[in-house]
Amino acid sequence: MNFSEPGLFQTIFEQLPEPRILLRTDSPVFTIVFTNASHKRATNTSDVTGKSLWEVFDPNALGGDGPAIIKEALDTVIHTSRPMKIPGFLYSRTDEQGNITEQNWWELEYSPVLCPAGTVIYILGTAYNVTREFSRQGIIDDALLQAKVLLREQALNIELSELNGDLANANEELNKLNDRLTHSREFLAKMNEKLEESVLSRTRSLAESEARFRNLFEQAPLGLALLRGPDLVIELANQSILKIWGRSLEEVIGKTQRESRPELEGQPIIANLEKVYASGNSLTLNESKAFTLKEGIRTEGYFDMLYQPFYDSEGKTNSILVVLTDVSEKVGARKAAEKTQEALKLALAAGGLGTWKANLMTNQMSASERTRTICGIPEGTFMNPEHAFDMISDEHKDRIKLAIQHAIHSKASFIEDYSLEPLDGTAQRWVNIMGCAEYDDEGKPLNYSGTIMDITERKLDDIRKNDFISMVSHELKTPLTSLKGYAQLATARLSELDNQFIGYALEKINQQATKMTDMVNSFLDISRLEASQIHLEPSIFSLNELILETLNEVILTAGGHQFYFHPCPAVEVMADCDKIGQVLTNLFSNAIKYSAQGTRIEIYCTPENGSVKVMVKDQGIGIRHEDLAKLFTRFYRIENDQTRNISGFGLGLYLSAEILHRHKGRIWVESDPGKGSAFYFSIPLT
Ligand code: ADP
Repeated sequence: MNFSEPGLFQTIFEQLPEPRILLRTDSPVFTIVFTNASHKRATNTSDVTGKSLWEVFDPNALGGDGPAIIKEALDTVIHTSRPMKIPGFLYSRTDEQGNITEQNWWELEYSPVLCPAGTVIYILGTAYNVTREFSRQGIIDDALLQAKVLLREQALNIELSELNGDLANANEELNKLNDRLTHSREFLAKMNEKLEESVLSRTRSLAESEARFRNLFEQAPLGLALLRGPDLVIELANQSILKIWGRSLEEVIGKTQRESRPELEGQPIIANLEKVYASGNSLTLNESKAFTLKEGIRTEGYFDMLYQPFYDSEGKTNSILVVLTDVSEKVGARKAAEKTQEALKLALAAGGLGTWKANLMTNQMSASERTRTICGIPEGTFMNPEHAFDMISDEHKDRIKLAIQHAIHSKASFIEDYSLEPLDGTAQRWVNIMGCAEYDDEGKPLNYSGTIMDITERKLDDIRKNDFISMVSHELKTPLTSLKGYAQLATARLSELDNQFIGYALEKINQQATKMTDMVNSFLDISRLEASQIHLEPSIFSLNELILETLNEVILTAGGHQFYFHPCPAVEVMADCDKIGQVLTNLFSNAIKYSAQGTRIEIYCTPENGSVKVMVKDQGIGIRHEDLAKLFTRFYRIENDQTRNISGFGLGLYLSAEILHRHKGRIWVESDPGKGSAFYFSIPLT
């Protein structure tokens, strides 16, 4: 059977017992699509298809609220897609003249016919005859009332359902809102999480930075303390400040300065802190003296102090940071240096010493007052090293120049005596100058500084003494010469007489007279030397011959020493023969004097690069290391058990050195105590 066949559907519809009507949903027209036979019978109508419901059923004929109730019911079906019932509806059938022929109560039911999309496209109306149930008027009225109430309820229901729809919408909105809220909440939760994380990390970094700060505070080399409130309660104190205070942490924390550090009594420290607290201004004190505890003892010290106030939100002081640096050592060292400086000044003043400094980079010179007085430099006169050099007397200029150059070159100190012509035109003055240079890292001299002493008086005394020696020597020399002459004559004559003892005695007189003559000569040499009167008389001679001659003379006084001479290969020198002979005599005599009888004395002569070197080597008592450098100074003699009985004036080596110096040669010694000495000198060949 094919249900989609229109004929079939129509036949079924046609034969249904209840009156049925199919309406279009074209409210308010409600076109009739179809009515079945039962409907046609009940309504006394024939073909009404295509007509409006109201055209077929006259609203006026329906009477009362009927049409309005039906229309409302139909509209409700359209809107709600749900069936509606009108429980009691009176419908009168009339004849052609309009007379009521039949009156029936119908219960009308309108059901929606839905398209597949769910929209109401038709309304199927079914009428059930309930006349029997509505036979009595009361029932009818009740039914009417009930119908009205039902309709109202249904209308209310519709409103409610609309409201419900609104509510559903609102609910949807709410749900959406809720969703959004949930999202927001989730977002907020995430934000919160992040915030918590960042707060946590902030807290952590704050804690770290606080720990760092604490560490810094704790380990700062400066003494640090934080004093809180007007009573200056010690809130924080680091190790350095506790060390300065000489107190432990427990002794001071949470206590006022006054109660925890009674040693401050009588010191201005608390008053200063109170002033800072009251004024809100910081206070800095440098090298301020204060008494603190050191190992429990009240000790004086010097401190750099800083009191830095901190303020609350209203700008009022609420705490003070104390920063202390112990500068006691620095101040102590400076004070000691000042004392030393003062002592040095006093010593310089007592010794009559002046000081000077030549800056070799700027070529400027500074001089103390005493130096200016000695050199007659008028106040305000500009000085440079050349000016100072110009003051030196002409006869000393070359020597001093050489000596300064040598000292700078060999980085040695420079000690020289010389005379100078004071700038203020006063009489010539003798000075003793000592100086040494300061060098940079590359060994370049930066400045030269030292002392100057006026030795004019001493020098004049020396000159007078030398004059005296020279005079005495002269006076002695004449009788000595004639004594020697007579002794020699007597010796010569005596040999004829062959008187052995007298001969021996005269020989001794002769030897002693020679010794005395040598001595007098050396005195004379000294005085001449010091008066710069030694004049060299250079000549060309054979050094080998001079050595042999001198040796022969000296051997006479020797006591059985063994002499070995190793001559040089025929060397001729240009020098003062007598003076070099004097040097040789001195070295040979010393070798004899300071070594035992029978020991070897060796003389070597060797040429070497443009000069000739002579060595006199003995196996004698030797010389201690510390004496070596001083041997060549005037009157220097080594005093010990071995030398006590050996006569001498300590002049021989001094004179030798001076003679060689004037020949541009040099003299030196190598020696081991107990093993012997080797004296060397060298002179240029030309
Ligand atoms: P002196 O007249 O006292 O010998 P010198 O100037 O010649 O004076 O010598 C100075 C000092 O050097 C001597 O007193 C002596 O102590 C020491 N001296 C010199 N030559 C020798 C030497 N060959 N061996 C040991 N000591 C020596």
